[in-house]
Amino acid sequence: MTPYALMDRSRLEAERNRLDQQYRQLKAQGLALNMARGKPSAEQLDLSMPLLSAPADDRAFIAEDGTDCRNYGGLDGLPEAKRLMACLLDDRPDNVIVGGSSSLTLMYDAFARYWTFGVQGDAPWCTLPVVKWICPVPGYDRHFGVLEAFGVEMIPVPIRDDGPDMEEVERIVAEDSLVKGIWCVPQYSNPTGAVYAPEVVDRLASMTCAATDFRIFWDNAYAVHHLSDQAAATIRVRDIHEACRQAGNPDRCLKFASTSKITFAGAGVAALAASPANLSEIRLRMSAGVIGYDKLNQLRHVRFLKDEEGIRRHMRAHAALLAPKFDLVQRKLEQGLSDIGACSWTTPQGGYFVSLDVPHGCAREAVRRAREVGVTLTSAGATWPQGRDPRDANIRIAPSMPSLSELEQALDVLVCCVRAAYVDQLLA
Ligand code: PLP
Repeated sequence: MTPYALMDRSRLEAERNRLDQQYRQLKAQGLALNMARGKPSAEQLDLSMPLLSAPADDRAFIAEDGTDCRNYGGLDGLPEAKRLMACLLDDRPDNVIVGGSSSLTLMYDAFARYWTFGVQGDAPWCTLPVVKWICPVPGYDRHFGVLEAFGVEMIPVPIRDDGPDMEEVERIVAEDSLVKGIWCVPQYSNPTGAVYAPEVVDRLASMTCAATDFRIFWDNAYAVHHLSDQAAATIRVRDIHEACRQAGNPDRCLKFASTSKITFAGAGVAALAASPANLSEIRLRMSAGVIGYDKLNQLRHVRFLKDEEGIRRHMRAHAALLAPKFDLVQRKLEQGLSDIGACSWTTPQGGYFVSLDVPHGCAREAVRRAREVGVTLTSAGATWPQGRDPRDANIRIAPSMPSLSELEQALDVLVCCVRAAYVDQLLA
């Protein structure tokens, strides 16, 4: 088919009539489908059910160092839980603090501590006239939500297949001491699936920052979430902590991860890794607010996942459920949108999302129309700070939760709504 932008009015009108009819048929189906959030499907959650039926013998709650996990104590986690979480954080167990069940909470708390108390003796960020933060876009809406809650000025920087535009990042951090940090999802970035190249990691670690208290919030949420054995065998992001040490900036990064999309979302185990100086500051501040996190859950996770090999095996079972959904997204977008022009999308090797760019000015309208037909997508604009995508082009596709047949219907709706929004824009 000819790209829409090259069609004359009469062909566009014929196309509009065809799409109107298709839209009415879809509406008549009374769909109620949700592709808004990257939640694991029920089948994925079923993979971890043995976690809940761990043997109830008299050693079930005793950790390897003899700790009775039913009781208080152990601020920064059981030794075996640190070992397990170190696999996700690509760091040494003694650099790990195991937290509660949400990495987002750990990130929020880390930010809030710097805001309130400052970084290693520097002025608390709340005392500064303004705090600025670099946000690779499109990015994760809840990262932006953390900053929004504190009134931080967010600076969008484009993300490419190999990470953020580093020329831009280096320029911004060199110029302004009020720029205090950057969000990074280094592997299978939400939503584009970008994987940071080793050069990008080295540049982040070594760049000259005007702020002495600049921090990289390294959210490795999808560290083991490969969609194929090939990706699992070949994709590995350079260790940012190691790169920071080599560059003489050992305290620059805080790493975060969780088992939310490995075991149970919101009921897994979260952890962070950092330098010894960062760790002692974090422990000090953390100890005012918690006596110790849920060690029974830590123990259950260690016994269920065991080690790096155990995690790898478990993630293969997730991939077997997820990969056909990601394949279907690629097929449907190719069939449905490749001919009209001005659309592009990512083909991630792992993670939870596909990032779709539709003709500028059409994303919001396409998402609105889809909702009218009963398909809920992530709000257009959510992948940008303040929910404002200046091109109104990006839509995040989250294919994990619906079944394959529901996903197929939802993608038919999405394709129809994008096409219709574009035709209407051209005819307006
Ligand atoms: N970080 C990223 C990049 C995510 O995509 C998500 C969930 O979608 C989270 C963090 C949330 O993690 P948690 O469940 O550990 O709070």
